[in-house]
Amino acid sequence: MPILKMDNVNKDIISLRLKSITESATLEMTRRSRELKARGMDIINLSIGEPDFNTPDPVKEAAKKAIDNNITHYPPVAGFRELQEAIAEKLKRDNNLNFTPEQIVVSNGAKQSLANIFLSILNPGDEVIIAAPYWVSYADIIKMAGGKVVALSTGIEDNFKLNPEKLEAAINGKTKAFLFNSPSNPTGMVYSVEEIAGLVNVLKNHPNILVVSDEIYEHINYSGKHVSIASFSEVKEQTVVVNGVSKCYAMTGWRIGYMAGPLFLAKACTKLQGQYTSGPGTISQMAALKAMKNPPQDSEYIREMVSAFKNRRDLLVKNIGKIPGIKTYIPAGAFYLFPDVSSYFGKTDGETVINNATDFSLYLLDKAHVAVVTGEAFGDPNCIRISYATSSSLLEEAVKRIKATLKKLN
Ligand code: PMP
Ligand code: GLU
Repeated sequence: MPILKMDNVNKDIISLRLKSITESATLEMTRRSRELKARGMDIINLSIGEPDFNTPDPVKEAAKKAIDNNITHYPPVAGFRELQEAIAEKLKRDNNLNFTPEQIVVSNGAKQSLANIFLSILNPGDEVIIAAPYWVSYADIIKMAGGKVVALSTGIEDNFKLNPEKLEAAINGKTKAFLFNSPSNPTGMVYSVEEIAGLVNVLKNHPNILVVSDEIYEHINYSGKHVSIASFSEVKEQTVVVNGVSKCYAMTGWRIGYMAGPLFLAKACTKLQGQYTSGPGTISQMAALKAMKNPPQDSEYIREMVSAFKNRRDLLVKNIGKIPGIKTYIPAGAFYLFPDVSSYFGKTDGETVINNATDFSLYLLDKAHVAVVTGEAFGDPNCIRISYATSSSLLEEAVKRIKATLKKLN
């Protein structure tokens, strides 16, 4: 049978919606690393944010049981009732939040929960406020949903945190939502109760603004217990919490996340999801159910993982801080460091000129064989993101290589 060649099809068939977004920079850098590794190169990949731990055995067992018990048919669109109930219990147990199972929608990862929310609420031109630097997919998800990103910049000098005055000044009649993320990707910063209270004081006066709180790094917090913005009664009614099992149970590949929020929004997300995925996979849901039932504060598994991340953070901060020209700080959560490398802009090794953070990260990949992500993708062109969710020995080796490579720039 002749192979159909589509080369002559007009490339303009791609929609304006898709053309308005870019490939995820985290996933792009990971793809590049995989390609180079496949060609035999010794690449240290510090670009993707995922634990190097394996999914706990009891969770894997639950998935195997689900297959053997033929839990393999279409699930309810918003997720199995048992899982919705377990999530409601988790939100009460860990965050002191009261949500009914009907207010919870389980999706293929927190990423899809965010996409569901913004596709459900945004009309063309509606504005969503986010603090920059922000997680790479926020901006593109908002744009894809027709919204306008209002990024409020923060820097190392203000601990990468948004203050209430800046938030208030950005709010106008078109503001539909405020997207909040603590602990933060890419900076690892964690807002204190007082800092959250400051933002709540602004938001409570704007009850029509939806607060979308991405709490995916909730348990990876070295500074104390996680506080959800939804636990402030003044904004509880206008807040939707997004979370999932990817990070704290090392379950990135299972693709289970969820939203818990106002009933009207849960219904909208369910309607949407019913038309384009029919809901998350049954086997992954049964695995997530097992994970959710495990109280994290009692979980040896999470304690060990978080303690390993903390040691690696300390190691990375100490070693990176010894490289001349890299401005660093101590992150309090997640597993990322977002140092400022702008003092290298304009430098050259005689062949390549480093003009910006993207040049800088490509130079590290090319010469040091270390993959990091450019800060430009996170809305901060002076920084790079390093994920330290990898072994201490690889981190030490990576910093050694970075240091040796940067020495050649003048
Ligand atoms: N939010 C943030 C801040 C993230 O870093 C990620 C990436 N893991 C997600 C949401 C999405 O996570 P997932 O889709 O794996 O649940
Ligand atoms: N959230 C992770 C990261 O920031 C995983 C990759 C992705 O989903 O973008 O690296």
